[in-house]
Amino acid sequence: MSQLAIEGGKPVREGMLPYGRQLVDDDDIAIVTKVLRGDWLTTGPMVDKFEQAFAQYVQAEHAVAVNSGTAALHAAIHVLDIGPGDEVIVPAITFAASANCVLYLGGTPVFADVEPDTLLIDPKQVEAQITSRTKAIVAVDYAGQPCDYDALREIAVKYNLSIVADACHAPGGSYNDLPVGTLADLNTFSFHPVKHMTTAEGGMITTNNATFAARMRWFRNHGITTDHRQRAEQGGWYYEMKELGYNYRLPDLNCALGLSQLNKIDGWVARRREIAEKYYHAFSQVDTVTPLAVRPSGRPSWHIFPILLQMENLGVDRATIFSALRAENIGVNVHYIPVYWHPVYEKLGYSRGLCPNAEDAYERLITLPLFAGMTDQDVDDVVTAVTKVVEHYSL
Ligand SMILES: *Cc1c(COP(=O)(O)O)cnc(C)c1O
Repeated sequence: MSQLAIEGGKPVREGMLPYGRQLVDDDDIAIVTKVLRGDWLTTGPMVDKFEQAFAQYVQAEHAVAVNSGTAALHAAIHVLDIGPGDEVIVPAITFAASANCVLYLGGTPVFADVEPDTLLIDPKQVEAQITSRTKAIVAVDYAGQPCDYDALREIAVKYNLSIVADACHAPGGSYNDLPVGTLADLNTFSFHPVKHMTTAEGGMITTNNATFAARMRWFRNHGITTDHRQRAEQGGWYYEMKELGYNYRLPDLNCALGLSQLNKIDGWVARRREIAEKYYHAFSQVDTVTPLAVRPSGRPSWHIFPILLQMENLGVDRATIFSALRAENIGVNVHYIPVYWHPVYEKLGYSRGLCPNAEDAYERLITLPLFAGMTDQDVDDVVTAVTKVVEHYSL
């Protein structure tokens, strides 16, 4: 077998393959340029158009655009009136924003462990964490696979909780044939460039609740309400700030880009699924590499492709495998460090050992490159490099 690049051999490929990357074409550039030449740079007609198109895409009644996925989570937790003394159950394996949004409002994130094979929040662990202070669950569709929403819904009904789906990984996915974006009371998306589609920075919340949608539109604009009738009665200048909000507006420029990107998302999701299929096929032969389990109820849209290494059959730790893959010019990553391991959470009193499945998975996780623009050669390079590295270190 050829020598590992980390030991001085020739890398599997010449240039570094990133783990994710956006696709921007001439149509995207044309529409953004057109907006730039027009009258509105920030809030203008593109905001409504993008919101309506996105709502239609996920088959939700309302979509509210904001300027990041993090702002989307903040808005969702805000309209649930979460505050000091309230607890919100969050999975241990996710991007920190899924839990931070609870802290923003003075609430307490309570971490639930994940299922060891899907790394999705485990409904049994959710139920075990419920107290009289629990108000909501943030369910994260990790890697693009929808959570077990039937089980979560049952728990939510039993204990009178709301569900926020952090669906930042899963636009285009479905659960029992229902689209992601309609599975929870509030569903949040991110349009960061590594996600399925991009607005540079941006986010969206979808909901079938008109009151939530209206409140989130105030929230993204300083809490200012625009009741035109009241404005006319009180004088043309009048407006009211009804609750404390933020500037979370998504500019027209970004909405135009989003509208144009949305036209292409179906093809991109299809390509992501095709690449995931190739990985599953290739790694079915490699016993030290286990991709995530996929439940029959869920149809993932694959934001990332994490693998779990079988450390007992490898003579080295995850860090060595990671460095060896980087040396082969495969831009691997790790998603995620258990949220409560971060110093911010440690200082709040969360300690290690809370969620054993999450902590065990974290030590064995590596994210392989996955994005719609990957060529078949790129995919083959990843498979070749992973196989080369794990075979070298296999006991
Ligand atoms: C990307 C992401 C976010 C945050 O989105 P931003 O647009 O980067 O603020 C939140 N949750 C999850 C699970 C994400 O992947």
